[in-house]
Amino acid sequence: MTEAYPPELRGLIKRIAPGWPELLEVGAGWYPLLSRLDATLSIIAPNYVVQQVKSKFGSLSFYADPSADPSQFDAVFAETIRAAEWESTERCEACGAPARQYVIKMWVSTLCVRHAQEANGNAADPASTPPAG
Ligand SMILES: [Zn+2]
Repeated sequence: MTEAYPPELRGLIKRIAPGWPELLEVGAGWYPLLSRLDATLSIIAPNYVVQQVKSKFGSLSFYADPSADPSQFDAVFAETIRAAEWESTERCEACGAPARQYVIKMWVSTLCVRHAQEANGNAADPASTPPAG
């Protein structure tokens, strides 16, 4: 797994609070979504702090606070994150194309048709092909 994130995500990674790994545990298909979310949150809360960014049950899970003070709550900030998390459920985590959620190998994944087929591996499985004739 590569740690080389595109430049538009470096600002987001810099916001990860001390003690948390500097990781965005999501597929590259969600990077544009994260970069837009970061831009919007930076306007709402210029000193916002990130704890964790990951993929959970086929949806983006974005854990952040509007400031280093955990008692501070900002409804617009929270709403913006929730909207991005919703949007992620309709974006292929691999490529960003329109997607839906699939259960593949007991995991919920949000994928386009092509990546869902690849993840399933069924298309190339000769055992599942009925005999010709
Ligand atoms: Zn895809």
